[in-house]
Amino acid sequence: MPWSPRWSAHARCSGWPVSDPNAAMGAVYQELLLDHYRRPRNRGDLPDADITVEQRNPLCGDTLRLQLELDGDRLSAVAFTGQGCAISQAAASMMTQLIRGKTLTEASALRERFRAMILGDAEAAADKSLGDMRALAGVARLPVRVKCALLAFSALEQAMDSVRRAGPDPTAGNGKGETGNGN
Ligand code: ZN
Repeated sequence: MPWSPRWSAHARCSGWPVSDPNAAMGAVYQELLLDHYRRPRNRGDLPDADITVEQRNPLCGDTLRLQLELDGDRLSAVAFTGQGCAISQAAASMMTQLIRGKTLTEASALRERFRAMILGDAEAAADKSLGDMRALAGVARLPVRVKCALLAFSALEQAMDSVRRAGPDPTAGNGKGETGNGN
């Protein structure tokens, strides 16, 4: 067994939960998850973050802080810190990798797609646009772990809500004053 018992710090999240009837694919996916858990991408602080949000999953004790930098409506930098089970932390690593450089609209679409996959949508699970995150498709069979897998995107949703509240609508376009304001 390549993983140690200290992975199981949270009693309700103990053990490695992702198995796949297709053993070969399951092994690839487990390897991906393990890799993101051990070598998280975009983990750390963004000193110039435009938005910082924190989320907690009380079911499992997972914590996550997500930071975003925006360039217009594009996510120019994304970082996270957190603690918790392998699924929550690997999902955060994968999500930051996936959404970095995307627009808010694109990130929102990916969130919907990922959510569908985690809730059992087989078509979403085959969607290559989800990248490494497809390794989490097996969570659909483990309802108790759904919140772990969705924690990162829940944080993203909270961050995007605060963008919408704070600023002008980024989808309104750049044609300022092009209609009827000649001055
Ligand atoms: Zn968890």
